[in-house]
Amino acid sequence: MNIPLVDLKAQYQSIKPEIDAAIQRVIDNTAFIMGKEVAQFEEAFADYCGVDYAIGVSSGTGALFLALLAHGIGPGDEVITTPFTFFATGEAIAQVGARPVFVDIDPVTYNINPELIEAAITPYTKAIMPVHLYGQPADMAAIQAIAEKHGLIVIEDAAQAHGSRYHGLRAGALGDSACFSFYPSKNLGCYGDGGMVVTNDAKVAERVRKLRDHGRQSKYLHDELGYGHRLDGIQAAILGAKLPHLDAWNAARRARAAHYAELLADLPVHPPQQAPDTDPVYHCYTIRLEEDFDRDAIVAQLKQEGVGVGVHYPIPLHLQPAFRFMELEPGAFPISEYMADHVLSLPIYAELTDEQQEYVVQKLREALQT
Ligand SMILES: *Cc1c(COP(=O)(O)O)cnc(C)c1O
Repeated sequence: MNIPLVDLKAQYQSIKPEIDAAIQRVIDNTAFIMGKEVAQFEEAFADYCGVDYAIGVSSGTGALFLALLAHGIGPGDEVITTPFTFFATGEAIAQVGARPVFVDIDPVTYNINPELIEAAITPYTKAIMPVHLYGQPADMAAIQAIAEKHGLIVIEDAAQAHGSRYHGLRAGALGDSACFSFYPSKNLGCYGDGGMVVTNDAKVAERVRKLRDHGRQSKYLHDELGYGHRLDGIQAAILGAKLPHLDAWNAARRARAAHYAELLADLPVHPPQQAPDTDPVYHCYTIRLEEDFDRDAIVAQLKQEGVGVGVHYPIPLHLQPAFRFMELEPGAFPISEYMADHVLSLPIYAELTDEQQEYVVQKLREALQT
C-alpha cells in the first residue's frame, strides 16, 4: 500500500465537475487577477468565519505580513509568538521589522502557553500572534485577557485552522485580525498560492486592501508604497467551489482522528489531546513518541513501507539559522525543543479509509517494535 500524508487527487476526483467548471468560468471571463471571483469568495469566507471583512491575498505568509503592517507594527516593536510553528509565522514578524519574542508551548496542546506570556511582555510589546497549531485553537480566552490587560493586538495565525471552533466561534473571529493560508495541502486549499486576512476592523481591512495592490487608490494613482500581494481569479473560483464542502471534510477528519485514537490505544505513543469546548480540524494528526524511541528512524521505516509521514516541525524557530541573530541557544524553549524531537504526523484527509488507517497503525506498531 502507498498512503500519502495528504491525498489531493482523491479530493479533486470527488468534486471534479465543480472545480473544472469554476476554472473554465474564469478563463471564459479572462478575469485572472482579482475581479468578481475574488470579491465573491471574500464575501463567502467572511460569512463562513463570522467576521465583517475578508481580503484575499497571495499567500498565508503575505496575509501575516500585511496584517502586521495594517496594525501598524514595525521596527522597534515586539510580537509574542510560539517557536513551535511553521517558519512563516516568525518570518513575517521579522519582515515588517519587528522582533519575534518566543514563548514556549503547552505540553498537551502544543500551542503557546498563556501562563508564560506575561513574563515576555516589555514596553515594546505590540501584539500577540497565537498559532492554532494542527488545527487546534489556542487558549484564546487566556490570551485575550492578557492582551486586554496590557493593551495588545491579537493576530491569529489560522493557516492550519479553517473552520475550527473555540467556544462556538470560528478561528478567524477570535482575535483583532486573523490570517489564513490556502496552500494546496491546507484544510481549504487552492491550486497554487493564496491567503486571506479577516477582521472586524474596517480600518485594518482598508489598509490590507490597499497594501496588497501597490498602495493603489485608483488604476494609476498610488497613495503609498504597497506590494504585489493579490489573489488571482482561478484560485478564488476554486476556493469558492470548495468552501461548501469544508465542514464535511473537517468532520471526516475528526472521525478519522477518533479512529486513529482507538487504533493507537495500546501503543507507546501520545495521540493529540483535544482542549475543552473546541472543535479542532486536524490539519495534522500529530502524535508524540515516548522518550526512548528514535523518531527519525521510525519516520524512515514508515516511509519505506509506503506510509507518508511528516514531522511538524523538526526545528523550532529560535534554532533556525535565519534567526541566529537573535542569539537564542538550545534549552531556551525546552518543551518546543522536546516536541521537535519526538513528534510525527500520520496521514490524514477526508477520503482516508479504515483499511488505510489500519495499515498505517500496523506499520507504526512494527516500527516501534524493531
Ligand atoms: C502554511 C502556514 C503558513 C504560510 O502559508 P503560505 O500560504 O504557505 O505562505 C503560515 N503559518 C502557518 C502556521 C502555516 O501552517
